[in-house]
Amino acid sequence: MSFFKSVAANSSVFTPREATMAMRQSSSYRVLSQKAGSSLRKTTSVSLLYIRGSSSVRVFSFLNIACYSSYSRDEFYSSSKRRSHGPVMSAKKASQGQKEEEGRYKHTVDLPKTAFSMRANALTREPEIQKLWDDHQVFKRVVEKNDGGNFVLHDGPPYANGDLHMGHALNKILKDIINRYDTQLTRKVKIFPVEILSCLSLLIVTVLQSLDQDARKDLTPLKLRAKAAKFAKATVKAQMSSFQRFGVWADWDNPYLTLDPKYEAAQIEVFGEMALRGYIYRGRKPVHWSPSSRTALAEAELEYPEGHVSRSIYALFRMVSAPASNDSLLEEFFPDLCLAIWTTTPWTVPANAAVAVNAKLQYAVVGPKPLFEDAHLSTGNKKKRIGNVLKEPNMPFFIVAYDLLPTLEAKWGIKLIIKKTLLGSDLENCRYVHPVTNMECPVVIGGDYITTESGTGLVHTAPGHGQEDYVTGMKYGLPINSPVDDDGKFTDEAGQFSGLDVLGDGNVAVVKYLDEKMALIMEESYEHKYPYDWRTKKPTIFRATEQWFASVEGFRQAAMDAIGHVKWIPAQAQNRISAMTSGRSDWCISRQRTWGLPIPVFYHVASKEPLMNKETIDHIKFIIAQKGSDAWWYMTVTDLLPVKYRDTASEYEKGTDTMDVWFDSGSSWAAVLGERDGLNFPADLYLEGTDQHRGWFQSSLLTSIATKGKAPYSSVVTHGFVLDEKGLKMSKSLGNVVDPRTIIEGGKNQKEVPGYGADVMRLWVSSVDYTGDVLIGPQILRQMSDVYRKLRGTLRYLLGNLHDWKVENAVSYHELPMIDQHALFQLENVVKNIREGYENYQFFKIFQIIQRFVIVDLSNFYFDIAKDRLYVGGTTSFTRRSCQTVLAAHLLSLSRVIAPILPHLAEDVWQNLPFQYTIKDGSVAGFVFESKWPSVNEKWFTFPAEEIDFWGKVLELRTEVNKVLEVARMGKLIGSSLEAKVYLHASHAGLASRLLEMCSANNDADALHRIFLASQVEVVPSLDHEFVRNISHTGEVVVENDKVWIGVSRADGSKCERCWNYSPQVGSFTEHPTLCARCFKVVGIQPTPAMAEAIS
Ligand SMILES: [Zn+2]
Repeated sequence: MSFFKSVAANSSVFTPREATMAMRQSSSYRVLSQKAGSSLRKTTSVSLLYIRGSSSVRVFSFLNIACYSSYSRDEFYSSSKRRSHGPVMSAKKASQGQKEEEGRYKHTVDLPKTAFSMRANALTREPEIQKLWDDHQVFKRVVEKNDGGNFVLHDGPPYANGDLHMGHALNKILKDIINRYDTQLTRKVKIFPVEILSCLSLLIVTVLQSLDQDARKDLTPLKLRAKAAKFAKATVKAQMSSFQRFGVWADWDNPYLTLDPKYEAAQIEVFGEMALRGYIYRGRKPVHWSPSSRTALAEAELEYPEGHVSRSIYALFRMVSAPASNDSLLEEFFPDLCLAIWTTTPWTVPANAAVAVNAKLQYAVVGPKPLFEDAHLSTGNKKKRIGNVLKEPNMPFFIVAYDLLPTLEAKWGIKLIIKKTLLGSDLENCRYVHPVTNMECPVVIGGDYITTESGTGLVHTAPGHGQEDYVTGMKYGLPINSPVDDDGKFTDEAGQFSGLDVLGDGNVAVVKYLDEKMALIMEESYEHKYPYDWRTKKPTIFRATEQWFASVEGFRQAAMDAIGHVKWIPAQAQNRISAMTSGRSDWCISRQRTWGLPIPVFYHVASKEPLMNKETIDHIKFIIAQKGSDAWWYMTVTDLLPVKYRDTASEYEKGTDTMDVWFDSGSSWAAVLGERDGLNFPADLYLEGTDQHRGWFQSSLLTSIATKGKAPYSSVVTHGFVLDEKGLKMSKSLGNVVDPRTIIEGGKNQKEVPGYGADVMRLWVSSVDYTGDVLIGPQILRQMSDVYRKLRGTLRYLLGNLHDWKVENAVSYHELPMIDQHALFQLENVVKNIREGYENYQFFKIFQIIQRFVIVDLSNFYFDIAKDRLYVGGTTSFTRRSCQTVLAAHLLSLSRVIAPILPHLAEDVWQNLPFQYTIKDGSVAGFVFESKWPSVNEKWFTFPAEEIDFWGKVLELRTEVNKVLEVARMGKLIGSSLEAKVYLHASHAGLASRLLEMCSANNDADALHRIFLASQVEVVPSLDHEFVRNISHTGEVVVENDKVWIGVSRADGSKCERCWNYSPQVGSFTEHPTLCARCFKVVGIQPTPAMAEAIS
């Protein structure tokens, strides 16, 4: 008795209470409300749609509703739960035997039965399911048996350290969805035999941060490396265990680690091949230098925080001569002629080597005049300071870009009177006096980087401190001065500034010096993007040092060509990577650190010449493959050199540079794809965050192009960042951080922060359009949990109503009632569209399709009507068996198509299947992933187009009938819809005759009154009858140009005790005076109470 009670209590898939809760929880979003809903519909609406202002987030939308669906929008929002309670409630009451009398037919009612619980109980159940997979080695066995070709998703790149955040969850779950889908397609998925890249050089920073100053001093390189390796391995272990809890499948026993000697050897090989092809060179070039960590940095190691303010200056460099050819042009202005320059890094002025102009720009010689007496001096602006030179009565002439005159006049508060105009090219080879060294320096022609957008149009050029300056400097053979040391302090070369910090007092000193020399026009705060060290969060500088470079120039075109052959998802990613690759300078790959992989080079002690050739590289590679890269530190030069060089070993020393971490991770294709069995190169897919266009996607591309001539991947998917619900970046200080572990396990207060389990988090991953930034927060999670619960309820309905199902009970397709053929047609379309979603990596479309299918097509329609057939239609009746045929198809398809996204739910369903499912080779699929992707049922697509059209009309009509019934209930004419008789009159003869046909359908399932959940339906030939005029509740609807009139009155006859339908036949069967004809027939076939007792 109690069993029945508990099952029956949940037999309705969505209860109004749940629906109301869903409404309330989504209240802060705009809930799309129904057009013509009654108050009941409002409270029972299960719509979970919300639309947000943020353009980057598209969670649920109807824009992609597939064309198969014949439902009107209204239908989506309406619910007929209360109307449908007739057979359900009667069955329930009968089963509960509330009255002796009413319990008479309880054994003839087929209520749902399943051990699959309504509650997910994810905190217990998900780990149980994961253990089940582990115990049975499901992933391994399935992949081994698959014969559909390889699929390699190469996982990367390194995670810096510490705990996992939502970005990791998004990334790994997206990968897992793809891999699980491909596993179902019988592909040999090589998920992560390639798994976590534990980047030693990144993790070591964490190690250092954990030590105090004294402890750091005691660290030899070897001790430090040992500590870092230990930390790396522990982190990898912890991260792997978290990923496993997310339900991510992988070959967890065989992760790849960058600190693995084999990996290191493969990386040395990549480096060696590049070196031998001439792509590696040593040069003195300005690189991003981090004084705070005393090393060069790559572009990918920089970040550009908001709000950086520089001290920018406008300064004057006094000209001394014009070239002989142009002497007359400027003659009249000498010796009082100056070049006005602008810089945001005053500390680079001591390293000035030239002033660059744009040959095509127009310049002007101007005579400055104060606007008003002392007007410009009284500026109270703290951000601005006027230099001494502007306070002089006799100011020199300036040269500035002509177009900038109005801007500069306003800025400097003086009038600039044009004395002469000339082209930039006229200025080439003019000479000026260096403001610090007093040496003569040239005016040169720079590139298109010189514009009139800011500054003066004349660019202070210090080739040792800037990329463009360097290029211009090379063109003119300028000296590459860089009088700054590793700590960012001026060296002795900088004369009086020696020892000062260039980013601090050194900068101040240079500005002060210029002002004293009457060379400062103005100093002003300037906010702009400025590169910071991503680890120390401190500003970096550009500084020329001796470094190793990969010559991107040497293979740039090949890389650009390869980009065109890769499939980029989303498509605009191709523009990003193209722009970044075409614009990048040579890649500085050396770092001044004691961790990471060494650059395998020796230097001749006397000549400083590097020694690096095939023999030396091969030898070092061999040593590292055996002993790991620590050997570079503990072995002697003699042992590290090949035999041939040993006699002269004392003439050499080891290089002390290590490789850029992006060279480490960028070599993973070689270390993993190239080394492990069964993997192919290039990989089928790389999938990472959009920041990897300048990181891993690019470094992998460059190393691969340089050595193999092709990209290491066929396709690349990128995703955005995870933000909070308001679209803000997550931060501890804002308190808006969403932690994946908390989503799964819940917080300390489980009531406020419930544990949703991994599947709800995975459902969220599927719901977002990850190609942009995505949002998450408590509200969104609650909504995900609601959708999950509805889906779970749907699956439970299917399981419960198939408890007595056997494959041999199936009704053949051609015998099925039209409503069932229609349902299968819809199912097949849903499966097809979901598959397209997976194929195109558009999981949010799958989420939308499933949500809509479950709510509109199944819960609000098919399941609603099916209850009568299933519960009271008779256990072995045609109507119940045909319905079960449809339900079984739904159960088998739905559980399998959701499995990649919701593997735990799908497996939970599969473990509760009331029947066995046999796959092609004749074996029973014991796990959902053994069942593969549903095969296509072409037959189900053959549902005729005119029937699709007609059923569309029936459903539209049903919606309108519901509205009239609702009004009748409000007017107390009826209670349940089963107390009603519906009258229809169609103006179109064809439609009228079809409706008439459906009133007396040759099977109960297609009967119109069953579809309307009313007791009777009558099609009236004319509205010109008195009884028609007397019908109190009426409505009218235009269904595709055909007008249909609807009337509702009380049903004829009495209520059947068993099914609650009204019928004039109730009372006409002496043996069963309280039954309708249908029930009388069913009961006649059903076992007697005594038999039923014996069976149960
Ligand atoms: Zn009945």
